[in-house]
Amino acid sequence: MTTHPFLDGNAKRLLIGGQWVEAQSGRTFDSVNPATGEVIARLAEGGAEDVDRAVAAARTAFEGPWSKFKPFDRQALMLAIADTVERHFDDLCVLETLDMGAPIARTRTYKRWIVQALRFYAGQAVALAGETPHNSFPGDMFSYTLRSAIGVVGGIIPWNGPLISQLWSIGPTLATGCTLVLKPAEDASLGVLRFAEIMQEAGLPDGVINVVTGMGSVAGARLAAHPDVDKIAFTGSTATGRRIVEASAGNMKRVAVELGGKSPDIIFADADLDRAVPGAGMGCFNNSGQICYAGTRVFVQRPIYDQFVERLAAFSRTIKVGDSLDPTTQLGPLVSARQLDTVSGYFDLAQTEGATVASGGERLGGDLAGGYFVPPTVLAGMTNDMRTAREEIFGPVASVIAFDSEEEVVRLANDTQYGLGGAVWTRDVGTAHRVARDVRAGMMWVNCYGTTEASVPSEGFRMSGYGAKGGRRHVEQYLYDKTVWINLA
Ligand code: ADP
Repeated sequence: MTTHPFLDGNAKRLLIGGQWVEAQSGRTFDSVNPATGEVIARLAEGGAEDVDRAVAAARTAFEGPWSKFKPFDRQALMLAIADTVERHFDDLCVLETLDMGAPIARTRTYKRWIVQALRFYAGQAVALAGETPHNSFPGDMFSYTLRSAIGVVGGIIPWNGPLISQLWSIGPTLATGCTLVLKPAEDASLGVLRFAEIMQEAGLPDGVINVVTGMGSVAGARLAAHPDVDKIAFTGSTATGRRIVEASAGNMKRVAVELGGKSPDIIFADADLDRAVPGAGMGCFNNSGQICYAGTRVFVQRPIYDQFVERLAAFSRTIKVGDSLDPTTQLGPLVSARQLDTVSGYFDLAQTEGATVASGGERLGGDLAGGYFVPPTVLAGMTNDMRTAREEIFGPVASVIAFDSEEEVVRLANDTQYGLGGAVWTRDVGTAHRVARDVRAGMMWVNCYGTTEASVPSEGFRMSGYGAKGGRRHVEQYLYDKTVWINLA
């Protein structure tokens, strides 16, 4: 039996205008613990009418008392939220683990990231400024720009790390004085709901952040198409991202979309393999591969290819997969039965395509048969044109591909529809800089993989989407520039 104080048997509600309310239809849906397959909560299934209510509440807050909050007031609120989240974090990370399966050793590390993010955006709240461009217009004209909050934002987030991904819209919303309607994913809403309670405890004014749980095709679609939403911040699959962009056309709302990836992780023969093997391994397997920038195409220079495959396979067998609440567990289950089906399908496909399974490649049974567990999987003998190497799997599956020269590997790395992340492992500083420059992706790591922080900007490329995340430019995308001309003559 799964126990947690938040899981009290009552159906979880929607947060609209500061009140916790049922869906207007009265409908609910189940939330499942992917480690056991057990239903751990029921959630309100928000419909289009609930999204309409939430958007109206967000608009009222935007135009009402929240608009009177000065930058320092918003900063104080965000710092209070950071402190309150810090106090409650032990309970929050257990909930996230139960809800989407990431091991507790991983979700505990979110504390530093989330608290820092809130404090970073709190700093941005007091650093907003327009410009006073000089002009040459005849007469005596003065011109300046105002940076104003864009209005009501819809945040549509995925299930692979909702406590973190919600911050990408909560942070800039609060920093700029926007308001937000958050639509968490069907498979992982509990942490987001508890986080909203914690924000209320810290003094979040009514309507500034609203949370509507429900189906993407209904609640998400209504939010994306809503005529009174000014911006959508979406993180999720490329297919859904395209629908979001199309839906945004109705009222020309602004959009930021962070989508899928098939990121290259490039290992040169001169790399320090004691670091590159576990680095590339966890760069792909972390969160059971359910990370948009996971390094899933591992390119290895031919002289060390066989040795690398052997060592990566041996490393992957040392990874502890199992009970997500055990602090020594490194990988938990996949998020859902649907995701298990998808990943298992690629195990079969890879072999049909001629790959050799060097480790993993089968669902885990025994004690773990009740959950959606798969082992870290190393596929050798891969080429970049196989479907397994081209399509995003969102499971712990590394396609290991041999290359000869730098020029070839850059070409192969760029031979993808995506452009989210990537890494290069080498001791040669020139190689590192050239490859980091030439791979067409939004984030590149050198001799490491996957570090992110709210103060450091990143942005997807090609089918991985667009819109800054983190850094000052991210905050600016929640503002619009207004130019004012004044006749001084
Ligand atoms: P996945 O297929 O892995 O669940 P999605 O990109 O579909 O990934 O999901 C990311 C988020 O987008 C979730 O919150 C989901 O509910 C939402 N979503 C799904 N379909 C739509 C849609 N048509 N319009 C808006 N949001 C959607």
